[in-house]
Amino acid sequence: MSEPAIIRPDKQTFLAEENPFEAMMERFDHAAKLLNLDPGLYKVLRNPEKQIIVSVPIVRDNGEVEVYTGYRVLYNTSRGPAKGGIRFDLNVTLEEVTALAAWMTWKCALVNIPFGGSKGGVVCDPSAMSMAELERVTRRYTSGIIETLGPDSDVPAPDVNTNERVMAWIMDTYSMHHRHTVTAVVTGKPVAMGGSLGRREATGRGCMIVTREALAQLGMSIVGAKVAVQGFGNVGSIAAELMAQAGATIVAVSDKSTALHNPHGLDVPDMMRWVREKRQLAGYPKGETITHDQVLTVDCDVLIPAATENVISRKNAPHIKAKIICEGANGPTSAAADKILEDKGVFVIPDILANAGGVTVSYFEWVQDRGGYFWDEETVNRRLESIMVRSFSEVMAMAARHKVANRVASYMLAIDRVAAMHRLRGMYA
Ligand code: GLU
Repeated sequence: MSEPAIIRPDKQTFLAEENPFEAMMERFDHAAKLLNLDPGLYKVLRNPEKQIIVSVPIVRDNGEVEVYTGYRVLYNTSRGPAKGGIRFDLNVTLEEVTALAAWMTWKCALVNIPFGGSKGGVVCDPSAMSMAELERVTRRYTSGIIETLGPDSDVPAPDVNTNERVMAWIMDTYSMHHRHTVTAVVTGKPVAMGGSLGRREATGRGCMIVTREALAQLGMSIVGAKVAVQGFGNVGSIAAELMAQAGATIVAVSDKSTALHNPHGLDVPDMMRWVREKRQLAGYPKGETITHDQVLTVDCDVLIPAATENVISRKNAPHIKAKIICEGANGPTSAAADKILEDKGVFVIPDILANAGGVTVSYFEWVQDRGGYFWDEETVNRRLESIMVRSFSEVMAMAARHKVANRVASYMLAIDRVAAMHRLRGMYA
């Protein structure tokens, strides 16, 4: 039987299981019920504070005008300035951006950094654009949302298909409008212009730290652990590299172009060199080609989905062999798959914990920019380690106290912190 389709106001059709906002809300509702969240606060936290839709017209290199659609959603700013990435992708919808902005709110609260949550995106295919076109899209989108941006109000960062180059253009556009240099308006910038050492590696490093903690929790070691990584972008490749350095064997890796398997271990630095040169994994010779779905179900101890939403669904969840899933991506597991994994006893490190290393070092970058005093990489990594280890153990304690799965425990901790701030601040009317 086919699943019911949900028609959304922005005219996107999702399968019920794949609807990102529904997926977020299902978990939110569960946690809110267990927390006994009062009905008024429940209503407040179920709604995004601000949703902006802008049109992004540019002149393409061939002289023709093209108009893209851009979104920025500030989900909740009670704990501090909104924080969250910007993605350039054809699959971007207002609904998805709203779900991702909510996830940022819970993520920042979970690791207890003083930010709210936001997300942005432009519906476009950056692989079909020249560098000059990408710059024009970035600057025009930035000027479209410029009133909400600012170190004290909303601070973007890289996300799917955006990088430090894009952040540099955002910083420059914002600074030109404000007539002075404002480095703290974005994070994930090049180090030479106020970026933080360790930021590029931070999400992957955070994944490695919590996976190591999870393995220890199960009485296993990272040394010799078999790891499969789906997605070989900034998060997946660095997580794989750091885990291999810590002694793990990377048995499978995929990107959009291909999926590779080698039970004796893939050479991650070599693959990273290949991708830097060829821009994709396809053609890499030292591994057997498998299907994209097989990466998820391959024999391994740890599976790291590090690409996009909904890759683990009710269809493939029953076949997953990993003991631990570390969600490097945002929302890689559908709510239906959650239940299947729980029944199978898989130890899930939920996205809002697993990939929080990125925004944690974004916080460090923002602090360094505002203070005008920069830390060495060892200090950044040590402080990241301490926040990730503390957050992991807080989630473990919450899960044990309420006898709930790690994801629900993470939501409970996060929602409770956001709710506490609302109670203290009261309702402005
Ligand atoms: N885009 C990243 C995330 O989803 C980083 C956000 C940030 O650093 O603000 O967590």
